[in-house]
Amino acid sequence: MNPNNPSLITIAIDGYSSSGKSSMARHLAKTIGYRYIDSGAMYRAVALHALRNGMISHADNSVDADRLIAALPEIAIDFEVTGDTQSTLLNGENVETEIRAMAVSQCVSPVAAIPQVRHALVAMQQKMGESKGIVMDGRDIGTTVFPDAEMKVFVRASAQTRAQRRLSEMIEKGIATTFEEVLANVVSRDHI
Ligand code: C5P
Repeated sequence: MNPNNPSLITIAIDGYSSSGKSSMARHLAKTIGYRYIDSGAMYRAVALHALRNGMISHADNSVDADRLIAALPEIAIDFEVTGDTQSTLLNGENVETEIRAMAVSQCVSPVAAIPQVRHALVAMQQKMGESKGIVMDGRDIGTTVFPDAEMKVFVRASAQTRAQRRLSEMIEKGIATTFEEVLANVVSRDHI
């Protein structure tokens, strides 16, 4: 509980990738004046750091887990709000556009599967949520990060609908890709 405002709660929004949970969480947070945390963006930022530092194999997107685990203490993730836009910061740098690129989407699942990465990010997320008044989205938020959240929502949609959503987002951001490529990525991330 937040002693300064006991009415504040934690809202956990889980669901499949590209199901619309981030948009829903963002709008909800804005409407009720809560802080929004995009947990997927945090995994994407770690994946981008790994990619930039040569820890991802070009051949099969496998991760040099030992090097990444050793580098975790050097990775700081935060969010910056400018007007209506929220951006992800990796060691102070705005990486919002870069973390949505296909190169990151393709290596984020193996990065997120490393237990030490999950442990570090879950601890960071729990710290961000300490004073409540937070909406956080991601697939383990209601189960692992905030099992005691006062409100939990689970969002689902077909793989095709989700791929279409992701494709529209990427086109809007000027990222070159195809429906087939995005659908394959969505299906593969569901499986992982
Ligand atoms: O939600 P988004 O698609 O941006 O998440 C990117 C990836 O980060 C997911 O595919 C998943 O591998 C990982 N992730 C996770 N746990 C979360 C949020 C995201 O493992 N809470």
